[in-house]
Amino acid sequence: MTLDEVVQIMREHLATKFPKACQTCGCTYLTLKDYLQRTRHVGQPIAFDVELDNMRLSNSLGSMSLANCACGSTLSLDSDGMSPLLLTKLMWWLVAEMARRGKTASEVLADVRRAVDEATLSEPTR
Ligand SMILES: [Zn+2]
Repeated sequence: MTLDEVVQIMREHLATKFPKACQTCGCTYLTLKDYLQRTRHVGQPIAFDVELDNMRLSNSLGSMSLANCACGSTLSLDSDGMSPLLLTKLMWWLVAEMARRGKTASEVLADVRRAVDEATLSEPTR
């Protein structure tokens, strides 16, 4: 898989998470673009599997990216709902990229997130 393919898969997956409402203030984010424009990322993305050195499919916990709502509470986007097969492919891509580039899981995922953000934000608003 290439980075572009990974970005495409992530964007398709993330699109299924919207509309998304903040449980604290009730603010609703209609699309991923809307969400990216109105929240701030918090820290680096987290890949639980890799951080835990746990690549077993049955124990896959997926990955999560955190952001702050305008009201200050923390919102998360995770890999729930993604097929285990696809998630495993992404995890193996991640591990290969880490080895190839000598980066940590969070650093590689931060690059993916940046590419997803750029592609999403450069899209014309519907
Ligand atoms: Zn809120």
